[in-house]
Amino acid sequence: MTVKKDIEIAQETPMEPIADVAAKVGIPADCLEPYGKYKAKLSFDYLKQLQDRPDGKLILVTAINPTKAGEGKSTTTVGLGDALNLRGQKTMMALREPSLGPVFGLKGGATGGGYAQVVPMEDINLHFTGDMHAITTTNNLVCAALDNSIYQGNPLHIDPENVTFKRCMDMNDRTLRNITIGQGAKVNGVERKDGFNITVASEIMAALCLADDLMDLKERFANMLVAYTYDGDPVYVRDLGIQGAMAMVMKDAILPNIVQTLEHNPVLIHGGPFANIAHGCNSVIATRACLKLADYTVTEAGFGADLGAEKFLDIKCRLAGLHPNAVVIVATIRALKQHGGVAFEDLKEENVDAMLAGCGNLAKHIDTIQQFGLPYVIAINQFATDTEKEIAALENWCKENGHPMSLSQVWAKGGEGALDLADQVMALCDQENHYAPLYDVNEPIEQKIETIASKVYGADGVDFTDEAKAQIETFNQMGWDKLPICMAKTQMSLTDNGKIMGRPQGFRITVRELRPSLGAGFIVALTGKVLTMPGLPKHPSALDMDIDENGKIVGLF
Ligand code: ADP
Repeated sequence: MTVKKDIEIAQETPMEPIADVAAKVGIPADCLEPYGKYKAKLSFDYLKQLQDRPDGKLILVTAINPTKAGEGKSTTTVGLGDALNLRGQKTMMALREPSLGPVFGLKGGATGGGYAQVVPMEDINLHFTGDMHAITTTNNLVCAALDNSIYQGNPLHIDPENVTFKRCMDMNDRTLRNITIGQGAKVNGVERKDGFNITVASEIMAALCLADDLMDLKERFANMLVAYTYDGDPVYVRDLGIQGAMAMVMKDAILPNIVQTLEHNPVLIHGGPFANIAHGCNSVIATRACLKLADYTVTEAGFGADLGAEKFLDIKCRLAGLHPNAVVIVATIRALKQHGGVAFEDLKEENVDAMLAGCGNLAKHIDTIQQFGLPYVIAINQFATDTEKEIAALENWCKENGHPMSLSQVWAKGGEGALDLADQVMALCDQENHYAPLYDVNEPIEQKIETIASKVYGADGVDFTDEAKAQIETFNQMGWDKLPICMAKTQMSLTDNGKIMGRPQGFRITVRELRPSLGAGFIVALTGKVLTMPGLPKHPSALDMDIDENGKIVGLF
C-alpha cells in the first residue's frame, strides 16, 4: 500500500470559503480581512469587541523530547481539535506559523500531517500572510537605524564592538552567523562585526507573541536593548526613536490569521518563535481570541515539555494571565524506542524492551506537568510500524504507573481517530487544577535557572561560566533581574548535550551566556551549543521541491 504524502491529502481535500469556517464560531464576515478565499486576518476592531467575553477551556499539547522527525504535536493538536468538534464542542486551535528556514532544511512543513492538517498548507508553509516578512523588516529596520546612527556622527556614543541586536532572515544560512559589515570606503558605514539570527529567533517575534495589542508591542519595541555605549551604558530602541515606525510595519502582522483544518474547523495561526532559543508559543493575541470565541482551545508549544511546555507555563501563561485546564503529552513508540537506545535506522523493528527503557523520558515529562499542578493525558500517536505487542506493553506501562492514556489515530483517521482522547480531555478540563509557575520572578536569576534545571530537566545543579556570572552581576545592577527565564537548550535531550537521550541522571547544566530580551520581557539563558541561525543539512528538503506549469507543488513534505 502506498501511503499518501501530507501534501497530496491536503491538495485533494476541498476547502470551504474562510468566511463560512469563521461563521462556525460566530465571526461575522465583515470582521475578517480576507487574503484570498481561504485565509483571513481577524480585524482590529473585532478583537477589541471580544475582550469582555468569558474564556473557554485551554488545552496544551506537548511531547517527550523529539527525535529526528518531530513526534506529531501539531498533528495531534489538529486531530484533537477536530475530535472535540465532532463531539459537538465549539473548538478552535491556536498554532504557530512555520518558519521557512526549516521547511527548506530537514523538517518540511509544520501544519500537521496525514488527515489531521491545516490548509492551505502550501501557503501557510510559504509566505502565508506576510507576517514573517514584516517581522524581518522590523528587525532589520533597527539594525539599519543603529548603524546609520553610528555613521552619522554617533550621537548616542554606541560602541560598535558592543552591539547586541543582530540582523535576521527567515532562512537556514550558517554563513551569516558571523559577518563583517560596512567594509570598504567610509561611505559604506562603520565597519564592525555582526551576524544574523533566523527570524523566528529574533526578539521581535518573541515580543509579537507576548504583546497584548499594537500599543503594547510598540512599548516592547521601545524597551529593546540594542547596544552599549563606550561607557557601558545600555542603548535602547527608544534612544534610536524608531519604535513608531516599527509598530507601523507590524500593523497587519499583529492580527491573527484564520485558516481551516481538513475537516473545516477554524484555526488561528499566529506567531512562531523557536522553542529551543525563544519561548516557542503562538501569540497571546491569537490564544486569547480563541478562548473568547470557542469553548475549547487546543494549542501547542514547541519541542518537548522541558522546553515548550515549561516556557508556555512559566512565561506565556504567567505574563498573559492565562490559566490552562489540561495537558496532552504526545509520545510515539518509535521515539520511545530511540530514547531506549535503538538507532534511527532500526526503529521499524519491534523492540518492547527498548521502548519500555525509553519510557523514562516520558515519565520525566509527566513529572514536570504534575509539578505545574495540571491534569494530563498521554496521547500515543500511532504509526503504521507500531506492533500490537509494543502498543499493549505501552498501555500496560501507563496502567501500572497510573497514567491516563489514549491511542491517537488522527494521522490516519482525522478527528475520528481521537474521540477517546477528546472525551478524556473534556473530563480533565472539568477537574479543578492548581496550576502555578515553578518559580517566583523576584528570586535571583541563578535560583530561577536552578529551579528549571532541577525540577524540569532533572539536573543535579547548574554551573555558570565566568562570562555568565559577570552578566548576571550587570543585570542585577541594571534592574533587569526580575524577569522570567527563557532557557536556550537543545531540544533533543533533557541535558544540554543533544546526544544524551532517555532519562539521564547525575548531570549538570552549564549556562554560558545570558541575554536580556527586555522587549519580550524575559532573560535568555544559553546552555550548550544552541544556534540562533541554523544551517541546511547535506540533502536539504529544498532539493525535492518543485512546482509545475499548473502551479501544482510537490515535495513540500
Ligand atoms: P511536531 O509538531 O511534533 O513537530 P508534526 O505534527 O509536525 O510534529 O509531525 C511531523 C511529521 O510527522 C509530519 O510530516 C507528519 O505527517 C508526520 N507524522 C505525524 N504523525 C504521524 C503518524 N502517526 N504516522 C506517520 N507520520 C506521522
